[in-house]
Amino acid sequence: MLTPLPKESSEPLAWSGLLDQLQKSQTLATLVIAAWQMGLHIARILVEQQLNERAQQPTSWDDCPVCGHRLHSKGFASRQMLTLVGRVQWRRRVGRCPNGCAGSHSIPFDQVLGIEPYQQSSVELMRLGCLLAIFVPFELAAWLLAQLSGIRVSDDSLWQWVQQYGKQSTHNWEAAVEDWQKGHSPPVEDLSEALAAMPLLIAADGVTVPLRPQVGSPKGKTRWREVKVAILARLSHRVNQNGKQVTRLQQRRLVAVLGDMQRFQPRLQLEAIRQGVETAPKLSGSVTGHEASGDCLRIVLSSWQSVCSISIMRLLISGRPLRPIKMATQRVRLRCGLSGCAISCAMAMFIAFSTNSAG
Ligand SMILES: [Zn+2]
Repeated sequence: MLTPLPKESSEPLAWSGLLDQLQKSQTLATLVIAAWQMGLHIARILVEQQLNERAQQPTSWDDCPVCGHRLHSKGFASRQMLTLVGRVQWRRRVGRCPNGCAGSHSIPFDQVLGIEPYQQSSVELMRLGCLLAIFVPFELAAWLLAQLSGIRVSDDSLWQWVQQYGKQSTHNWEAAVEDWQKGHSPPVEDLSEALAAMPLLIAADGVTVPLRPQVGSPKGKTRWREVKVAILARLSHRVNQNGKQVTRLQQRRLVAVLGDMQRFQPRLQLEAIRQGVETAPKLSGSVTGHEASGDCLRIVLSSWQSVCSISIMRLLISGRPLRPIKMATQRVRLRCGLSGCAISCAMAMFIAFSTNSAG
């Protein structure tokens, strides 16, 4: 939904103002936008109402981590957060050790809500901002976010969000790979019967991206480095209007690593297991120009050679065939506004978000 933005630093209109705006709307577009803003207003009221109501419930206090005394309530304190429906405020209990121990400050309701002590923006808003920042520069992502949601954040905030989730995602990946290397296989993602019966395609490629030569500074000559990317998808078939059978990629999952094959290979193998490589009826591998990616893919696929039939196709990662002459030299220049490890992290985060929001 494309929304006109209220003036800089203006407070959201009160209900009477919104109603007035609705009644004065003439065109369909202004009518829809006025109604949309009323919807956001109601959403904010509902969220705040729920938060304040739940915060009134009795709190069970932990013991002080320093002296072991049961923590006591020090009363209610206000909290606010920028969310997808605007800024919301509520009051909740804060607790502390009766002996005044340092570090005993506790807010159980924040933990229930899954928010961090100094968090200023809610996860669903950050998710949207990070997804936009994967595809366009930060300044443009901030503008798009404001157009789509009416929420203004700076491009610097978007950058911070990507860094935050990039680091978290990297940590999650590393922990999962470490677990797997110790012999703990990751759980296979839930698939419908129809999806599970489709062949699994794994395609790998390298994408050369421009990076800053020094962390935190745009000065100096651009450094081009390869991000190794793989897509894992189930293949479905349908007959189009011309009676021709066409293939569709379903259940797309991505793996991206800024680093060497030693880092890429276990991550790709891990995701392959998550995508049911061990039970897929048929396995296909697809590589493009970069021979190293192809070699890696062959190694990964060979792990399951005994259980699956493997065919290596030459296909662009989007699913379109690539002209052979272009394959070896093509440089896909991703000016996506991400720098350093943020590219691979953001891609990985995108997978996490996509996975969590799948279905
Ligand atoms: Zn204490």
